[in-house]
Amino acid sequence: MSTTGVPDTLIDRDRLYIGGSWTTPAGPDRIEVVNSDTEQVMGRIPAGTAADVDAAVAAARAAFDEWSQVSPTDRAEVCAAVAAGLPIMTFASQPQVVQEMEWEEQIGNSLVVREPVGVLGAITPWNYPLHQIAAKVAPAMTAGCTVVLKPSVVTPLNAFVLAEVMDEVGVPAGVFNLVTGIGPVVGEAIAAHPGIDMVSFTGSTRAGRRVSEVASATVKRVALELGGKSPNVLLDDLDEELLQRAVIDGVGKCFINSGQTCSALTRMLVPREALPAVEAIVAAMAEGFPLGHPLDPDAVAGPLVSAVQQKRVTDYIRQGIDEGAKLVAGGTEPPAGFEQGYYVRPTVFSDVTPDMTIAQEEIFGPVLCIIPYDGEDDAVAKANDSVYGLAGGVWSASPERAEAVARRLRTGQVEINGGVFNPLAPFGGYKQSGHGRELGRHGLEEFLVLKSMQR
Ligand code: NAD
Repeated sequence: MSTTGVPDTLIDRDRLYIGGSWTTPAGPDRIEVVNSDTEQVMGRIPAGTAADVDAAVAAARAAFDEWSQVSPTDRAEVCAAVAAGLPIMTFASQPQVVQEMEWEEQIGNSLVVREPVGVLGAITPWNYPLHQIAAKVAPAMTAGCTVVLKPSVVTPLNAFVLAEVMDEVGVPAGVFNLVTGIGPVVGEAIAAHPGIDMVSFTGSTRAGRRVSEVASATVKRVALELGGKSPNVLLDDLDEELLQRAVIDGVGKCFINSGQTCSALTRMLVPREALPAVEAIVAAMAEGFPLGHPLDPDAVAGPLVSAVQQKRVTDYIRQGIDEGAKLVAGGTEPPAGFEQGYYVRPTVFSDVTPDMTIAQEEIFGPVLCIIPYDGEDDAVAKANDSVYGLAGGVWSASPERAEAVARRLRTGQVEINGGVFNPLAPFGGYKQSGHGRELGRHGLEEFLVLKSMQR
């Protein structure tokens, strides 16, 4: 075992999980998985191909007829059994969620029933990888869909453990299938496949757009969960104590998981007159932010996921400096003591204007932009000045005022005065953050289709 808790031996996965069996892939190619802390290869997985997708879709189609006829309650129990083997909240929530769904309703002479959409292709990103998988696979299975999952090749190993758990708890063959491989090959084969009824995609807006294009040829349903550049509006009525709380909370919500969070609050909107006070709190916090190795219990942030991501984020920091933003903390050099591994210093820019690249593009690293505003309308306009609309935050001494501003934000989630994340409330975006909704009852609804029977 290395100091980071990763086994010294390579995690070697050479099969795909298809039709209830660990199956030899059609092609010989493999993909290496790199430990972001040691920069060493830690595992190897199959580079799947379109032929593997064909096999997985055939298995999923074969399983669909029977699985879709199992009662929703029993399907939800299977999901709960997966959660008992692996701690994933979304699987555990299914028995509750299934009760909240209105499966049938009478409208005049019509019986309206909700049925599973069919075979789901699920394509997931590398950040929070198991959560992103669970947010699709659990409700899809509860809905009665069968699934072909393609996780990110950057963080694929947890999906193999999930497949093992599925197998152990007796999920019927073909209900869940795992095909690993790169996006342009396996991802596009899934999006294009006529045997797949729906694609649920979480990842970058760039790849989501491509998935939509490819999927349109077969008119399949597409749910997109994409990037963000989420605003956190600090209103002008905060006293010293509340301002301190708001800033500390906001910095934490930007830097958590080293900023690799789709809903990270990366733009802090601050009344211009409060800028010096906010900068002072933020600078002290960023410099002392608990960085550490991934298994260090005191660490709040660790390395970025890959060398590519480290370079991308560092380039954005350089661009922020070049564009004239005020560097309050951090910078382009790696943090002292973390020269190995893909670490980036938690970085804060102030006096950021909406026309700067760092104010508009998703950086996906520990970089906070503080944007001054003049008056509430300007705050709302600046908050909404983004192609994204995933999440947001509002802080005010008055809960009513905070809610009024929250209603004006064009984002799918808004936390008021640091309100905690609710795993049963719908999660998803406005604008180019996508149009899917995950989690809870609304997350289940995504995978259902309506049928009206006139009597
Ligand atoms: P990515 O778009 O590079 O990859 C996501 C998935 O899509 C991967 O499995 C990848 O292999 C696949 N893919 C890539 N190109 C493809 C193509 N042409 N066709 C089909 N599939 C393709 O994203 P990432 O770098 O893994 O993840 C980070 C991004 O995900 C960020 O933009 C982040 O905001 C977003 N994200 C969004 C949410 C949300 O719920 N809205 C949650 C987490 C992450």
